[in-house]
This record gives sequence, structure tokens and C-alpha cells, in this order.
Amino acid sequence: MDMIDLRSDTVTQPTPEMRDAMANAVVGDDVYGEDPTVNRLETEAAEMFGMEAGLFVTSGTQGNLIALLTHAPRGSEVIVGDKAHIVLYEQAGMSALGGIMPHPLPVQDDGTLLLHDIEQAIRGDNAHFPRTKLVTIENTQGTIGAVPLSPVYTKQVADLAHKHNLKFHIDGARIFNAATAYNVSPAEIISGADSMTFCLSKGLGAPVGSILVGSKEFIKEAHRARKILGGGMRQAGVLASAGLIALHQMSQRLHEDHANANYLAERLKEVPGVRVMSQNTSFVFFWLEEIAKLNPVEFSARMKDHNILLSPYPGYERKFRAVLHYWITRERIDEVVTVMKIVLG
Ligand SMILES: *Cc1c(COP(=O)(O)O)cnc(C)c1O
Repeated sequence: MDMIDLRSDTVTQPTPEMRDAMANAVVGDDVYGEDPTVNRLETEAAEMFGMEAGLFVTSGTQGNLIALLTHAPRGSEVIVGDKAHIVLYEQAGMSALGGIMPHPLPVQDDGTLLLHDIEQAIRGDNAHFPRTKLVTIENTQGTIGAVPLSPVYTKQVADLAHKHNLKFHIDGARIFNAATAYNVSPAEIISGADSMTFCLSKGLGAPVGSILVGSKEFIKEAHRARKILGGGMRQAGVLASAGLIALHQMSQRLHEDHANANYLAERLKEVPGVRVMSQNTSFVFFWLEEIAKLNPVEFSARMKDHNILLSPYPGYERKFRAVLHYWITRERIDEVVTVMKIVLG
């Protein structure tokens, strides 16, 4: 790949090993439950997270929506962060397709929802009110900078939800980054959750797919929801074979991306007109100052001339997000910094 693409970890392409596995995947009709590679991926993902069962889904958005539809009936309410992907970037799927009402709570600077806010938001038993059914959190919390939430906090939310007879779902699109940041096992980082979705296709590098994990009973119902959303896939083992490599191998190297993000954040201090805003896990947010030599549009264009892709964060003019992933080596980071110094110097 010639381009140095820092826009997102969704741009990662399958590794040569993945392409090889895909070419040789043993497959069957997964709608009949007969694709051995999909079955293996679902089982091994569930085991890794200490859950009973897993479901291979087309995307993180579909995985979250399936979880919401399965946990929360029409007319019920879901507690969710106001800066959550579920609220901001999923077309209000829970309302549009599930008749579910979101109850958004402020996401704090550390990515958490306050336990007090959650407790206050839970509805009492009163005929006027919708019924609260589910609490959700996002880990890592993406929009505020891929901030990882601790296993201790997660367990506190689980206990609170369960005390009130609610279910607890984690949008864990980048859950392995969170587990890596806290140096705990995948099972520990989601401890107490009833369900969790994670993406195989982001920093883990698989071409397509996410996995939803939960109890056997939950996944049985989730399977129905996947079908009605058009997510029943046939010889999906071609995709699942890459997913297995993502799950077992790529998940083990994310500390490299975190170290590289830290390295990039440090080195950006050398670039005139750039102010580093935050660095967590694999994300670096930086601000292109008014005094910088180029405006944000010119800056992106000049970087692109040098085969480096960087674009302003959606909704912001001067805020940029650089996401580290396995295509971005130390040498490439050095090249990025060198070019930035040239175009902004
Ligand atoms: C990427 C992402 C998703 C799912 O996105 P898809 O593009 O549908 O796979 C969900 N939640 C978070 C926090 C994400 O970053």
C-alpha cells in the first residue's frame, strides 16, 4: 500500500495470511448453521469473552441494533451516552426500526456515564413512564478520543443495571484496545455484561464483520433479529476465516499501535502550528492552529500530494484524528512528521 492512511483503522486491508485463509476456507450454508468456519469463529469469540455463545454479524451497527432489538421491546427505553456511536452514527436505528426510546446521558471526559446519572435515569413503575430495559456503554469511547473504560467501572455499571433488573450491553467496537490498555483479558474487560459487540474489521484488520456475544438464550433470539435485518449470510466462512486471524493474532499486537500513537503524539510537538489535544489507545487528536501556515483544507491537500491521508474530524474544521494501525509503522510515522514539518514549516 503506497498511501499512508491515518484517517481511521477501518481502512486496514486484510493481511496476506488472511487472504490465504479466505482462499482456503472450508464453508457451508450458515443460514442452515452449516458453515464450520463461522461456527468456529462464533464459538471461539464467545469463549474468549467468557460468554456462552456468539453471532457473526455484518457490521458493528448491525450488532448493536440486534442487541437493542433483542433486549428492549417496542416502547421501552435504553440508557446510553449522548456521545455514543449508537446515538450519533447509527441513524437512530433503535427508534426507526425498534420503536425504542434512547435516554441519553452526558458522557464524561473520562468516557464514563456517572453511576448517579444512570441510577437517576432508571424509571420507576408508573403507567406514565416507558419501561427502562437496558443500560449501554461504549468501550473504548470513540468520539472523545478512544478512551478506554476500566473493568472496575464496567463491573459497577453491570451491578447497578442488574440491581434494577436491567440488561447491560457494551458497544465494544474497539474492546481489544481497551483490554490492551488495561492489560486484562477480554473476559475481564467486559465483566458483568449481558452482551457485547466488537468489530473484526477495525484495528484487527479483517475485511468485514463484527461479533455479538452473550448467553445461549440471548444469541438464539439475536439470531432471529439478524435474519429480519437481512443479515443471514450463506458461505460466510470466507469472511470468518479472516475473522479468526483477527481474533487470535491481530488482537495480540494492539500494544504496538498504542505505542505508535504515543510516539506520534510526542513527535507532533515538533511541528509548527499543530497542538496535540489527546492520545488514548490508538487515536491521536490534534488541532491545526489559526497561526498555521496552511488552512485545514490546504493542509489535507498538501499531505495527500505526499501520499498521506489525514482529514478533519467530522463536524470540526481544525480538529484532526490520526488513527494508528498495523499499516502504520514507526518509519511511516517518521515520514509523516517529516512531511508535516515541510508543509507547515
Ligand atoms: C465503528 C464503530 C461501530 C460500528 O461501526 P460499523 O461501521 O457499523 O461496523 C460501533 N461503535 C463504535 C464505537 C464504533 O467505533
